[in-house]
Parts: sequence; structure tokens; C-alpha cells
Amino acid sequence: MCVVSHAKTLAISLGLLVSLAACTTVSPPSGNVLKPNTAWVYSSKGWADEAKTVYVSAADYVTEKHVEYLPESWAVIMDLDETVLNNVIYQVEREQRGEAYSAESWYEWTQKENATLVPGAREFIKTVNDLGGHVAFVTNRSDKEQLATENNLSKLNLKRNTDFRILLTRASPKGERDKSDRFEIVPELLEVQGYPNVKTIAFIGDNIGDQPNTIGDYRFFCIDQGAMYGEPCAKVPGPGE
Ligand SMILES: [Mg+2]
Repeated sequence: MCVVSHAKTLAISLGLLVSLAACTTVSPPSGNVLKPNTAWVYSSKGWADEAKTVYVSAADYVTEKHVEYLPESWAVIMDLDETVLNNVIYQVEREQRGEAYSAESWYEWTQKENATLVPGAREFIKTVNDLGGHVAFVTNRSDKEQLATENNLSKLNLKRNTDFRILLTRASPKGERDKSDRFEIVPELLEVQGYPNVKTIAFIGDNIGDQPNTIGDYRFFCIDQGAMYGEPCAKVPGPGE
């Protein structure tokens, strides 16, 4: 693994001259050393490989499960941040400045529309659509951030109608962080849009709250976001199993 921030800091502290020219990883802005799990997401092939593996498992599942349903009568609900959208640059910038998350700085980040894709997400979304399923995004980004979020997705070539049908943000300030009610109305929203009797067969997310509170006939697939924030669903967030 090539973690530039660690190597650079070590070199400076020891007074050694270390050439980083051979390292292919882009160096983050200078500043405080990243937390190990942030560095893992930022520059580790292991993180990318782990995300791809989860998405391959999810694709295998919907490929097998969808035959129980008619085309356009099943859906997958996905979280966005650290599930589809990779915001590690925001995290890197905050940590290197020695600053924590703030709603204001997060809002500014979302307005830049610069989030990248979590590896494997695009291929999975394509699989769902190719098999006749619907993709619905249920995110705790606020409604103030909805437009920029959809623009960001569009820049990543994930378009409403073609790639996803629903994008539900959280209304501010009164909207519930708990996603249960929004999960439940996804089939209703699809029904009034001409797709009746839709069953949600899978949820994909990086946090515990990205799946329903109740057990049902669905599968949940967890993307490991390295415990950068929130309540990660990964049993052991970060490097390792
Ligand atoms: Mg998330």
C-alpha cells in the first residue's frame, strides 16, 4: 500500500530525504497526518477491491433473485455517500486542517459536485437496470443539497430515468435521520409513476441505518467506509476482514 501522507511525514520528522517520485498515488494536500482508516480509503487498493467484491456479491444476488419477479416489479435501495459517492477528499481536507465535520463545510463540499464513484457501484447499478429492476437512492443528504447531488451523479454519468428512478433526500430541518419511512414509500412512489407492486429485494449502504429496522425478505450489502464517520455497518471497518 502506498500511503503518501505517512511516508512524507516520516521522512520530514526523521530529517531524511525520501523520494516519492516512484509512488503513483496522488499526494494529498500537506497538513496533519490522516487517520489510518481515512488513508486506507484514500489510497489503498484494498479498499477499492473490498468495495468491488461487495458489489459483485450484490450483483450475484439480484441476478439470482430477480427471476422471482416480473420485470419492473422489483427494486434495490441504495445509500449514496460512501456507498455510491466517494467523499474521501472532503474527509482528507478536513483532517489535514485539523478540523472535524461541520454541516457548513459539508454543504460547501456537496455544492462543488466533486464526489467520485465508489468502485463497483456503476457496474452494479447497470446490472440492476439490465435485469429490469429499479434503483432508488435514499440518502441523508439534505434537501438543500438535492440539486447538487443529482448534478454530481450526472457528471459521473448516473442519470435519473436511465440509471436511477428515485432520489430521496432528508428534508431539513425536520426530516428524520432514520430512513425507515422513506424506505417504505419507495414502492408507493414507483406505483404512482406507473410501476405497481414493486418489491424491494436488496439494500446497499455503509451505515447501520441503511437497512430497515425490521427483518424481511431482503438482503443487505455493506460497503466498508473505513469508519470515517457515522455508524459503519462493517464488522471490522478498515483494513482486514
Ligand atoms: Mg453513507
